[in-house]
Amino acid sequence: MYHRNICNLDESYCERCNTTTQTLEHIFCTCPIAGSIWDCIGVAVSEDHYKRPWLLEAEAQLPRQVALDVFLVILWQIWKARNALIFDHRNSTSRDVLRCVVADLGAWSCRYKTLESSLLRWQEFLLHRPSPPLYPLPWYGRMNLYWIMSINT
Ligand SMILES: [Zn+2]
Repeated sequence: MYHRNICNLDESYCERCNTTTQTLEHIFCTCPIAGSIWDCIGVAVSEDHYKRPWLLEAEAQLPRQVALDVFLVILWQIWKARNALIFDHRNSTSRDVLRCVVADLGAWSCRYKTLESSLLRWQEFLLHRPSPPLYPLPWYGRMNLYWIMSINT
């Protein structure tokens, strides 16, 4: 936003990180919540990927016919989580974002007709991934962390 002269520098920091300028690359690739989601599904994203998500198809370990759609849903849910934090002050975790992706795939699967089983394979894959590192920590996680830190000092 700052680079496009839409807002000033003070308003351009990531709502989650507070120290990093909010760029598309940061939102979709390097922000910890996005990074943990991509790590969880075993996809190495780079700047090219959010600009050209079809390049992610090469990273897909599951049916490639629907991989682009799955990656677009992931990008969409990352964007929605960012907006929910900014406009509704609702802080989603990486697990919350993945749950929304799984729900979206389920809701849209009937639209895929012959490719429905391919989309459902992706849904199953995402459902059974080890949970991504919980980012950001929920408030009680932070409390425990502070409590542990205060004990060790
Ligand atoms: Zn961030």
